Amino acid sequence: MAKKRSDTTSPPAYHRNAKLDEVMTGTTVFNVPFPKDLSSLKGMSPIVIKHPYSIDYLHSYGQDSPFFAGLANRKLLGTRCGCCQYTYATPRLHCANCGAETDWVELPLEGRVHTFTTCYYGSEEFLKDTPFHLILVEFDGADTLLLTRLIGVDRPEDIRIGMKVKAKFRRNSQLKPTDVYFVPG
Ligand SMILES: [Zn+2]
Repeated sequence: MAKKRSDTTSPPAYHRNAKLDEVMTGTTVFNVPFPKDLSSLKGMSPIVIKHPYSIDYLHSYGQDSPFFAGLANRKLLGTRCGCCQYTYATPRLHCANCGAETDWVELPLEGRVHTFTTCYYGSEEFLKDTPFHLILVEFDGADTLLLTRLIGVDRPEDIRIGMKVKAKFRRNSQLKPTDVYFVPG
């Protein structure tokens, strides 16, 4: 049975003096100049406001997750193709060589500098660390290289192709690729 409407006879309730609360946070302005002649508005400079912006972004490592679990446990993990034995120092879940699914393997914690570059500019996260050295590390038993950071060397002139380097891990893992870095071996 339909509910009987009881408000059809009473007048609508309007609050003609309703107001939103004023705010004193963010961009609060008290006096914006405004011309009498609207035609001059076309020459107005753009208004720019400062607006803090932050988000919590849930990012899944998906099938790469074991690599980060390894870093948190001071282990460097790569993957190996069970079919053709091609071994990836930067893990790939499927073999780029033959397409087969790979297996996780532990990499040695020592390797050699295959090549390097010194960065004098970086993205926001790394800008404060410039200049810093990036190296590609080659490992015994791996067919690809690992991009990582070399610390403990001040000048690029002191880095040698083929020099021995060893892995170190941040004690407090951030579950990021930067949890591992290398120092001269
Ligand atoms: Zn393969």
